[in-house]
Amino acid sequence: MSIIESYNNIYSEVLKCSKKAGHNVELLAVSKNQDISKMEELACNNVLMFGESKVQEALPKIEYLSNKYNNLDFHFIGKVQTNKLKKIVEYFNLIHSVDRQDVLKLINNYACELGKKQNVLIQLNIACETQKNGIAVENLDDILNASAALENVVVKGLMFMPPYEEDITKNIKYFDMANSLFNKYKSNTFNTLSMGMSHDFCLAIEYGATLVRVGTNIFGERL
Ligand SMILES: *Cc1c(COP(=O)(O)O)cnc(C)c1O
Repeated sequence: MSIIESYNNIYSEVLKCSKKAGHNVELLAVSKNQDISKMEELACNNVLMFGESKVQEALPKIEYLSNKYNNLDFHFIGKVQTNKLKKIVEYFNLIHSVDRQDVLKLINNYACELGKKQNVLIQLNIACETQKNGIAVENLDDILNASAALENVVVKGLMFMPPYEEDITKNIKYFDMANSLFNKYKSNTFNTLSMGMSHDFCLAIEYGATLVRVGTNIFGERL
């Protein structure tokens, strides 16, 4: 199957699940560790939204594709390292993985320098996994309050990545919690709940996801 065929298959599944759930859902094609030719096959078929997790890998891809195709929309989904943050702000439209106030402030400074407003999501660590990124639920209020003073940052919503489970229904409680937190702050601008990947996106949509991040099911196994 070609890449665009698998994308279209996943996209119809996303549509089916989102109809059932009663809200709109966007599909982010996670292209990290995937060859640029596969991304180009999607871009030339008018797929615009791509997720990358490493700055070094992403920048040449973004430069090449943005020169050839219009209106591409790149999302940063990886761990944010402050020494790479300026490039992230320069090249990405939405950063999914902000989990510290100092990072948010730095993003605001860089966005100000670059004359842009940077869209971000706050990544949650609901399952209290020590090795994982994300902010503890009890600190969410603080970071959202602090963000209000940052004129060049727009907090568009929340991102959540549950622990890996063979039996995805074990994560329902976490999806449900992420959705409640999202609904608590939801507004015209705070309108994005990024959760769900290849193996669990339909379940995540059922529990409120408005954006799913799918890599393997679109592109195949990563390099
Ligand atoms: C790699 C990655 C994905 C995509 O995972 P698949 O299982 O390949 O769909 C989604 N979100 C994040 C944050 C990732 O790092």
